[in-house]
Amino acid sequence: MENENLLAIANEFGSPVYVYDSSKIISQYDRLSDAFKKVKRLKLNYAVKALSNIAILKLMNSLGAGLDTVSVQEVELGLKAGVKPSNIVFTPNGVSLEEIEEVSALGVQINIDNLSILEQFGTKHPNVPVCIRMNPHVMAGGNSKISVGHIDSKFGISIHQIPHILRIVENTGMRINGIHMHTGSDILDIEVFLRACEILFETAMNFKNLDFIDFGSGFKVPYKLGDIETNIEEFGSKMTKRFNTFCKEYGKELTLGFEPGKFLVSEAGYFLAKVNVIKQTTSTVFAGIDSGFNHFIRPMFYNSHHEIINISNPKGRERFYSVVGYICETDTFATNRRISEINEGDTIAFKNAGAYCFSMSSNYNSRYRPAEVLWHEGKAHLIRKRETFDDLTRNQVDIDVFSKVVETT
Ligand SMILES: *Cc1c(COP(=O)(O)O)cnc(C)c1O
Repeated sequence: MENENLLAIANEFGSPVYVYDSSKIISQYDRLSDAFKKVKRLKLNYAVKALSNIAILKLMNSLGAGLDTVSVQEVELGLKAGVKPSNIVFTPNGVSLEEIEEVSALGVQINIDNLSILEQFGTKHPNVPVCIRMNPHVMAGGNSKISVGHIDSKFGISIHQIPHILRIVENTGMRINGIHMHTGSDILDIEVFLRACEILFETAMNFKNLDFIDFGSGFKVPYKLGDIETNIEEFGSKMTKRFNTFCKEYGKELTLGFEPGKFLVSEAGYFLAKVNVIKQTTSTVFAGIDSGFNHFIRPMFYNSHHEIINISNPKGRERFYSVVGYICETDTFATNRRISEINEGDTIAFKNAGAYCFSMSSNYNSRYRPAEVLWHEGKAHLIRKRETFDDLTRNQVDIDVFSKVVETT
């Protein structure tokens, strides 16, 4: 998107505002599908939690993507967007048996990640095919960073517990139709990821009647210049080869599944905010914007780096700024960042604001959540209104039990 498109959106819809460029989502989807075009049966399920606006879900549906969901509410959003239940996978962690049954009754594929629920569900519903989430104990992404594939992770059933899974399957007569993993970390090293895949293939051989193997996500996108990015094309070609030979060994053409969130929507998103105040201290120039971690928490929560451009003055002389929010907490978006000269009233744009940005926003400090706009075929479409005071008070119950107002002097 051009700066002037973004600026026009900030002027029309106000600030702060999230903007998503549909063409970027489409090109990312195409790029991933292309990398696996030699797989006979490929299924890309978009991870709804990254960005759950219904317009985005409709766009995904129109591209042929399915949905990966983690709550019954996400499932309902998908259904509301017109996605068929058979195109939705439910991959929760730590939810109740009741919620899993509720989702299953809607016709959605369920994915179970612990032995207790597997046994209970299999006993009650032996005719419903179930996918199981494995923990391959491989730390994709390497080094000391903890991923959700490590030994003590709360996610998945350990590969060392396969005998127990098999016993539950035998005792209940349930059918396992899919095997899944999601290590939760970035695929920085394709070889490490492929090693985890090997473990999943080995696991798969224990189950005679699978329909699919789902390898989760972990596709890394660049957040700043020089960032390592998953080489999708190289990964696609290696994985395709291996998957196709596996299907021969297995004796059945299985579906290869992935669940990308970030890869599909991160780079499509921009977060636009207005600069309320420029404040100089003895050592720092702060640019204070009309937002905070209530709208955009990734920089504080994950220490993530988001490029910032001053779209009101993109060609201005560059200076160093610390960009901070208006929340009564330390809410630093960026420290000592080189940005084109900022004046009060300018609009700045944060890049890579599509994934885990709006969906993690809150009303902290009693602020309204921002509007969302979809930029599609050269036009801006409002896809979520900015909240109003009514939204803040809607579910509050005004009780009338405090009879006396104490006057203080
Ligand atoms: C969050 C999640 C994803 C998506 O991860 P990204 O890093 O956004 O691609 C995929 N699968 C499951 C089970 C998840 O919980």
